Amino acid sequence: METSTASTYAFVEDLRAEGTAAVLDRVLGSYGCDTLTVAAAYHRARDVTPHGPARVTLRRDGAHFVPPAELFDGLRLTPPVQAGAEREPLREARRLTAERGAALHGWTVFLHNTTLGLAHPDVTQQNCFGDRAAPADLCPAHPDVRAYAVALARSVARLGVEAVVAESLHYGTFGHGYHHERSFVPLGPLEDFLLGLCFCEHCVRRAEDAGADAGAARAQAGRLVGRVLDGAPPDDDADAGELPEPVAAYVRTRTKAVTSLAAEVADAVADEGSQLVFLDLTGAVKGYADGLPTGALAADEAWRIGVDPAAVGAVVPGYALLAYARDAERVAADTAAYRAVLPQPCTLRAVLRPGVPDTVTAGHLRERTAAATGPGRADAVDFYHYGLVPYPVLDRIPVALKA
Ligand SMILES: [Zn+2]
Ligand SMILES: [Zn+2]
Repeated sequence: METSTASTYAFVEDLRAEGTAAVLDRVLGSYGCDTLTVAAAYHRARDVTPHGPARVTLRRDGAHFVPPAELFDGLRLTPPVQAGAEREPLREARRLTAERGAALHGWTVFLHNTTLGLAHPDVTQQNCFGDRAAPADLCPAHPDVRAYAVALARSVARLGVEAVVAESLHYGTFGHGYHHERSFVPLGPLEDFLLGLCFCEHCVRRAEDAGADAGAARAQAGRLVGRVLDGAPPDDDADAGELPEPVAAYVRTRTKAVTSLAAEVADAVADEGSQLVFLDLTGAVKGYADGLPTGALAADEAWRIGVDPAAVGAVVPGYALLAYARDAERVAADTAAYRAVLPQPCTLRAVLRPGVPDTVTAGHLRERTAAATGPGRADAVDFYHYGLVPYPVLDRIPVALKA
């Protein structure tokens, strides 16, 4: 992996608003990072942007570049294109980072795309009741989705980035399948997990090829979730960690769809002269809301989104965990657990949030940065995110990096 030890995440909107050179003055100059990680293809969001010209920013799904026609020729799925993409905002970021001897990483959201999911419901995850009710989650087993992911990865690599950082290159979860969810049925952790499982024809075929009884697994998932929908209380003692057979066998087969997709995408990126960093979302599933993950370490729960870190780490050059935890000891334990299962030479990056809800002071960020790095832990840290936190919070980054 190329040498990159510290980056700050940013949006194209941040570069456009402030000027790419001014952002680099801060990120590379003031903060002491050697890399800028910019969203090349992103998803819908409404963000509080404390120091932007818009104080609240509405984002849409899509690419901040014009997708090369030859890569998407004949494909059913093509990325929506963001306003201003024709002005090639990543090109200036590439030129200016290179001039300053810094690396540029292209952050890319792959399978979380409500616009594509609403336009093509058949490529989204299908639950055990047959509902297509997760428009934001494209299924990693669907051939059209896989072809789209490979073409998207090649497009970003062609922007000349040192790494393509892949977000959402795995299954989604029930709790975040759309952006306006409601449930007045108390789902326990087991029901919530089961309702997020995909039983589309492609997942079913892959599972059966691997020897699982997909029909029985689907019926069992439907029975277990159906109990609660019919009015029974959720079984709070039941946990997805101890799944009953045959649904457990079905779930074990899901990691192959993700690992093989990661391998195809990594090969495509390498073919374009760049390197893939696989971003594992599990740390956010556990700690996104409050920075207080509990129970098993993230590495031990990655299977919930179809990720086997050891298997993925064998087919990608770089891996990133979301160290979304206030507690430095938890950060150290999470990072060490990933490092322990990732085979060499796969590198490991740890993504840290310098502000709420994880960090309270510069010293606290320094402590957590130190916990994430070093022998047996991560090779590099990434700070999330330039446009989403106030300047005084970003000013904690140089303190953390001087340690
Ligand atoms: Zn989302
Ligand atoms: Zn599926």
